[in-house]
Amino acid sequence: MTTQLHSRNPATDELIDSLPIMDADEVRAATDRARAASHWWGAQGFSGRRVALLAWRRYMATHADEIIELIHRENGKPRADAALELLLSLEHITWTAKHASKILGREKRRPGLLMSNFSAHVEHVPFGVVGVIGPWNYPLYTPNGSISTALAAGNTVVFKPSEYTPAVARWYVDAFAAANPQAPGGVLTLVTGDGATGAALCRAGIDKLAFTGSTATGRKVMSTCAENLVPVVMELGGKDAAIVAADADIKSAAEAIAFGAMGNSGQTCVGIERVYVERSIRDRFLSELKDALRDVSPGCAATSSYGPMTMPGQIDLVRRHVSDALAEGAQAVMGGIDSIGDRYIEPIILVDPPHTSSSIQEETFGPTLTVTTVDSLDDAINLANDVPFGLAGSVFSRRQASRIARDLDTGQVSLNSVLGFAAIASLPLGGRGDSGFGRIHGPEGLLEFTRTRAVATQRFPLPGIALLSFRRPEWLDRALPRLITWLHGH
Ligand code: NAD
Repeated sequence: MTTQLHSRNPATDELIDSLPIMDADEVRAATDRARAASHWWGAQGFSGRRVALLAWRRYMATHADEIIELIHRENGKPRADAALELLLSLEHITWTAKHASKILGREKRRPGLLMSNFSAHVEHVPFGVVGVIGPWNYPLYTPNGSISTALAAGNTVVFKPSEYTPAVARWYVDAFAAANPQAPGGVLTLVTGDGATGAALCRAGIDKLAFTGSTATGRKVMSTCAENLVPVVMELGGKDAAIVAADADIKSAAEAIAFGAMGNSGQTCVGIERVYVERSIRDRFLSELKDALRDVSPGCAATSSYGPMTMPGQIDLVRRHVSDALAEGAQAVMGGIDSIGDRYIEPIILVDPPHTSSSIQEETFGPTLTVTTVDSLDDAINLANDVPFGLAGSVFSRRQASRIARDLDTGQVSLNSVLGFAAIASLPLGGRGDSGFGRIHGPEGLLEFTRTRAVATQRFPLPGIALLSFRRPEWLDRALPRLITWLHGH
């Protein structure tokens, strides 16, 4: 039986939309529609899909005010941040639409001397129907990273958004249909609901699943997909570190880190949650950091730096991490437990919690930052790497940034900036360890949503030399050991 999901403004509790909580039958029906549409979508080829994706992008750009307002109301972030989210999403759609044919087109391969009577090539074939399960923190940008790439690669998509941001998802899916009235229903389909709806999608006969969300849910999703050997991309949580070396531009490092940590209320998978700073510049860095955050505060006014916590349950987790750190000897140099309200959290900076603290080892996903003093850059690298996550990181140094970045065990890194990689559409995104695996965005993202097929074509038979045949002549069998030495024995 279908019941309703009520989406509310996290700043005011105003009802934004009511959508159905779909059951397994409804999700299966949506997947069947996506399967039927995949023949039409595949037949469009790269050029037809490019036209459709660029029409969608144009529709969203020309109706930007609607979606910016909806993201602001449903997720809580300021309108300017919602606009930035839309802009980056459109950059990704444009890039994948324009590059899919070059990246995924047929690739010729050399057959080698032994098989010189063959030609060889590789094809990148769409999976068919891709399921996408998304989170609420960037309700447009994050699922779009999988959806636009999967569509450009020739798949149809069934999208299950977070139960906290289903209205944004409905607008986004409707925008595709409005921009492409010639397309049959089912190229991009919305299914709404909670975790059970997501689990139903994993079991609905999809060919691949792209999941973005927490590590704990990712484990459950993987195990559900394993029932039918459905391959998965896992974009999970993070605990990103920034390393600030003694030769860094301290003021600009502090300004960048302030934004990377507190922007979007710290609810950014690749947000900065930890800083490792060399002892000689620690006090200057802290002073610049406090300066950078002096006028930064949450609220729902046009001038607010960031909004409320989108998911009420997250507030208790932030409180636990901050109180753990303080009980374990960390010093709060900005904010503290009292900064945590019912909806909003003021910026909190905790200096030198122990390395085993929950505030260092677990994802906090709030506007808090730990700053740990180190005696060497090697210590900074070792501590930065010694957490279960490996999503992204940042390095601030005038002369050693590349060297430090090379040793950071993460999927992406920004040098002398934060989050840069997420705004460059040609770069892949993905993690290691508890941050997941697989890649979305860029060429690697396009390849992720295709199956690789090898094709070998015999152009002509070699007279008397049928290598792959029971008719192989005896002289050839006798010659094979000499052939091995001739080809590989030097
Ligand atoms: P979540 O794990 O609670 O939920 C994510 C999605 O999974 C939701 O749509 C939810 O309905 C669905 N879901 C829940 N239980 C399920 C189940 N058993 N089977 C199938 N689906 C199920 O995550 P969230 O709170 O929405 O998002 C925040 C998390 O997402 C953070 O950990 C953040 O770091 C992570 N994230 C990662 C990236 C990345 O690119 N790596 C990007 C954004 C967010």
